[in-house]
Amino acid sequence: MEPFRRADMDTSEEHAALKRTRPSWDEYFMRIAHEVATRSTCPRLAVGAVVVRDKRLLTTGYNGSPSGMPHCEDAGCLIRIVDGRESCQRTLHAEQNAIIQAAYHGVSVQGASIYCTHQPCLMCVKMIMNAGIEEVRYADGYPDPLAIELAAEGGLKMVRFTPED
Ligand SMILES: [Zn+2]
Ligand SMILES: [Zn+2]
Repeated sequence: MEPFRRADMDTSEEHAALKRTRPSWDEYFMRIAHEVATRSTCPRLAVGAVVVRDKRLLTTGYNGSPSGMPHCEDAGCLIRIVDGRESCQRTLHAEQNAIIQAAYHGVSVQGASIYCTHQPCLMCVKMIMNAGIEEVRYADGYPDPLAIELAAEGGLKMVRFTPED
């Protein structure tokens, strides 16, 4: 990893260029969420989530089967119609896995933000609320308008944010 600034070789021009490419905190954590999503095991959708407080990464999650259970990519998705939508029931969602990882390691996520590659579904919104997470930043939409409605009703801040690449 190159140091941010090296007095012996950095010109002010190079320094300015480096500054331009340095991501904002929002971009940084959203990019990490997209990286985490690459570990997803459900071929229907790769979702990633990271829980952050005070600019520190607390936990990560991607959508996949519970530990020790077969993955969608090996056993096939377990599709059921839920709320009129086809959905894969084999996996835990990325947001759920991020919250579960916090419980597993005894990390409080109270007052944190969660960065998600996709808008959380209704169940995840409810879990996010009761975990004490105060803010959701998501990149892509998801066809679950009730989740948005319920978040608004419950005072959970939901902000759509797309990092510029
Ligand atoms: Zn699946
Ligand atoms: Zn969900």
